[in-house]
Amino acid sequence: MKTKTVYLGLGSNIEQPYLQIKNAIRALNDLPGTTVIDDSGYYKSRPMGPQDQPDYVNAVVELATDMSASDLLQQCQSIERQQGRIKKRHWGERSIDLDILLYADQQISRDDLQVPHPGICLRDFVYMPLLKLAPDIEIPGKGRLTICVESAKTDNADFACVYAGKIE
Ligand code: ATP
Ligand code: CA
Ligand code: CA
Repeated sequence: MKTKTVYLGLGSNIEQPYLQIKNAIRALNDLPGTTVIDDSGYYKSRPMGPQDQPDYVNAVVELATDMSASDLLQQCQSIERQQGRIKKRHWGERSIDLDILLYADQQISRDDLQVPHPGICLRDFVYMPLLKLAPDIEIPGKGRLTICVESAKTDNADFACVYAGKIE
């Protein structure tokens, strides 16, 4: 099967978030037919949903993988379970969240899998690390990410998101 370039978004805000992100990247690199090509480094951001939860640590990684999008989703959910993710409330605290942002140039619209991830242009903790890795990236169906971010900006789309160092 042909190798695909894939971007994943990672987030954590409990149980040692920096370590959770690092461990998830290691687990991704260990998946069959999969290599982590690059990472954005850590970013810190304010919670998006309920405000009575800790700040988040986020990152984006670029993968090269032979896996199908469905298999990759399953593997991501398995890593989430291995790292103790328990869903308590919508957009609530989590030890690790792995979202498939982009899968090659594919557009997928299923109940269990939407690619490109619908939050990319709206969430600074996604587009900032993604643009760091791939400044010229195009979002299938939407055009250049830089343009898409500008046109999506609204008065309340200003979460604070800052770079927080290399993932060693
Ligand atoms: P959001 O998707 O808005 O970032 P979330 O990450 O908190 O919210 P989850 O509870 O992690 O949401 O996932 C809910 C469901 O989203 C999963 O069961 C999964 O099937 C589905 N899903 C749809 N598209 C994607 C995608 N691109 N990557 C990961 N999961 C996805
Ligand atoms: Ca998410
Ligand atoms: Ca998710």
